Amino acid sequence: VIADLRELDRRTGGTGGARRLCWGPEWRDARAFLGELLEELGLSAERDEAGNLWARLDGAEGDAVAVGSHLDSVPNGGWLDGCLGVMAGVGVLRGWAESGEIPPRPLVLVDWADEEGARFGRSLFGSSAAAGRLDPADLAESRDAEGRNAAEVLAENGVDLERAPQARGRLNGIGAYLELHIEQGPVLEREEISAAAVEGCVGIERWRHRFEGEAAHAGTTPMEMRRDAGLSAMALAQAAERIAVEADGGVATAGAISLEPGVVTAVPGAAEVLVDMRHPDAGALERMREAVDEEAKVAAEGRGCEWTASRIWSIAPTRFDAELVQLAREACREVAGAERALVSGALHDAAEAAALVPAAMVFCPSIRGISHSPVENTSERELVTGIEAFSALTSRVLARD
Ligand SMILES: [Zn+2]
Repeated sequence: VIADLRELDRRTGGTGGARRLCWGPEWRDARAFLGELLEELGLSAERDEAGNLWARLDGAEGDAVAVGSHLDSVPNGGWLDGCLGVMAGVGVLRGWAESGEIPPRPLVLVDWADEEGARFGRSLFGSSAAAGRLDPADLAESRDAEGRNAAEVLAENGVDLERAPQARGRLNGIGAYLELHIEQGPVLEREEISAAAVEGCVGIERWRHRFEGEAAHAGTTPMEMRRDAGLSAMALAQAAERIAVEADGGVATAGAISLEPGVVTAVPGAAEVLVDMRHPDAGALERMREAVDEEAKVAAEGRGCEWTASRIWSIAPTRFDAELVQLAREACREVAGAERALVSGALHDAAEAAALVPAAMVFCPSIRGISHSPVENTSERELVTGIEAFSALTSRVLARD
């Protein structure tokens, strides 16, 4: 598995990091390499209406066990994000194919299309289509950095945006979905745990807050006569931090603030701040959202500004299947010597698959918690532990009645 990851990095990564932006030439190269690996096992790959890639190894009977993740990356991404889970999945299929034995259940590998959403801003494209949660309208107006329309770029890759939701039927006949991924955060490294079960993914509320005051001359407008929308936005950013700290287990980020007209000689007449809020508990997340709205209102009123807020995107918290999480805990205890389960602060394809199929994940630690960067890394020893724990989990799930 590690040799496959290194070869993938050689072909589609390098010193500047992974270059597998979805629907682009390097992403297609990565899929061609995956096709070669499957061919060595005598398996052929098939694509669904959303561009997800599937391969199947026949088993004795019953519902299939699916394994996978995503080959696509952010620009200048890391060498493990997503492809670790795909290559570990290939490893599981390879183990059975080369053993000459028939697995007790069919094994299915999936490489989800456009998990990152790095090009058109819509994450989890392929897995949400398979889960029946993709609305093509979300992408209808989207353009990439070069101004190219999403539908056009997808069509070049053989995907008809309007027909993508038809990928939904693909999860029929699958009894479990399992995914190995890097943590992309610092918790496992801090706790010196080399593989852990994932209980679920946080819920996310992503909102745009707009403040309208009045643009005015920076030199001639007395301080007490200003309606500075920028200061309302900045007050909200600070309030979001405090609200997240008070909501135990929550995080909030004001990752983008824009000011109009945005020049040093003018009082900002309008300002927008984008706030991303996350919490594992739906009720706590809703309370965070309400508190942020309340603070935004106060921040606007205090400066004579108007305030409006609109939801950009949201997803409810995901709880993975309790029985599969327990099996993942046992597999990690057996292989890594520690039993730990954590909630992912990042989203994964498994969160979409879990809408229709029992799902669970295993995490490997990330050095210094860094991901979406060329320095993203995990020690080889810990990669081996994570891959073996994932393999042990798959065996346990295949062996279930
Ligand atoms: Zn990922």
